Amino acid sequence: SADLKIVVGAMELSNKKVKEVMTKIEDTFMLSSETILNSITITEIAEKGYTRIPIYEGTDKNKIISLLYVKDLALVNKNANISVATIGNRSRVRIVGENTPLTQMLTEFKRGDYHLAIVKRGELDEESVENGLPIVSFDKEETVNLVESVDKKMEVIGVITLEDILEEILQAE
Ligand code: ATP
Ligand code: ATP
Repeated sequence: SADLKIVVGAMELSNKKVKEVMTKIEDTFMLSSETILNSITITEIAEKGYTRIPIYEGTDKNKIISLLYVKDLALVNKNANISVATIGNRSRVRIVGENTPLTQMLTEFKRGDYHLAIVKRGELDEESVENGLPIVSFDKEETVNLVESVDKKMEVIGVITLEDILEEILQAE
């Protein structure tokens, strides 16, 4: 039955990892920080239909510096030729390791502080973080580590949202 499928789906979450259900990097719509916002680019971005769009610095897709909230495009003067970097929200970037268990990710999303996480290859490793720029804020109660700044050596492999986890729960066989 459908109910049983949901229960089984929920139980299977504990065995699954973020990398198994994320949207892969090649399918992720991201923008360069240098993208100029005018009526053409704003229309293109809006037509993609995503609410949150990772912004990478220049040409380096591994360096996510902020998130563009599509709603914020409404405030942009289309004739001012500002770049997307100007309206990207730096404080909304959250990064998780590819092997983060889905149960942990779900707990994070349920808390409601953010709804899209950037997935990096490997784990969030404190040492590389200490040697580079990033500031890690260890999450209060849980063990998921959240990086608030950008890990220099980071390889970005995808993005994950609550919807990816819900799909996993609902589609279990
Ligand atoms: P919302 O539903 O809050 O408006 P949304 O529709 O943009 O946001 P979600 O509903 O959170 O996105 O996720 C739907 C699917 O789209 C998920 O599989 C998620 O991984 C994917 N997704 C979210 N943002 C992007 C993006 N910028 N590029 C590609 N895929 C994305
Ligand atoms: P998220 O999915 O990242 O949690 P949301 O969909 O819950 O975002 P909204 O209420 O839709 O958040 O508001 C998003 C808008 O508010 C964006 O313009 C974003 O830049 C801004 N915003 C939301 N929360 C914060 C915050 N804690 N700090 C800075 N800006 C924020």
